[in-house]
Amino acid sequence: MLNKTKWLVKEAKLRIKYMVNKDCIFCKIARGEIATKLVLETESVIAFSDINPVASVHILIVPRRHIESVVTIKSEDASWIIDMFSVAKKIVKDMSLDAFRLAFNGGRYQHVLHLHMHLLAGGSVEWSKL
Ligand code: AMP
Ligand code: ZN
Repeated sequence: MLNKTKWLVKEAKLRIKYMVNKDCIFCKIARGEIATKLVLETESVIAFSDINPVASVHILIVPRRHIESVVTIKSEDASWIIDMFSVAKKIVKDMSLDAFRLAFNGGRYQHVLHLHMHLLAGGSVEWSKL
C-alpha cells in the first residue's frame, strides 16, 4: 500500500475511535496541534492548565474523544468519563491537594463544546468567571 493511503486509513481509524472534530480547539490540543501547559496525559485523556485561570490551581481534564457536553454523553462513552475521573484522582494525589473542586459547565455557561472537567484548588475560586 502507498504511504499516503496507509496514512489516510490510519487517520480514518483514529477519527472513528476519537470522533475527532477538526474545528474543535480541545481536539487540536489532544492531537498536539496546539501547545498547552501539560499536566498529565494518558491514552484516553489529556490534562492541562487553563489559559485563563480562576483559581491558583485550574486544570482542564479532557477526554481525547470529541464528546460535546454533559448532555450529549452516551452510554458507550462510559470508559472515557471514568478515565477523566481517574486522571483527576491522580492529579489530586500527585499535587497533594487537600481541598479541591471538580466542575462541569453546560448550556450557556459552556464556551468550548468539547466535554471538560475543571479541577480547581488553592485558595478562593472566582466562580463568577468560570
Ligand atoms: P467552559 O466555559 O467550561 O467551556 O471552559 C472553557 C475553558 O477553556 C475556559 O476556562 C478557558 O479559559 C479554557 N481555554 C480555552 N482555550 C484554551 C487553551 N488554548 N488552553 C487552555 N485553556 C483554554
Ligand atoms: Zn473536540
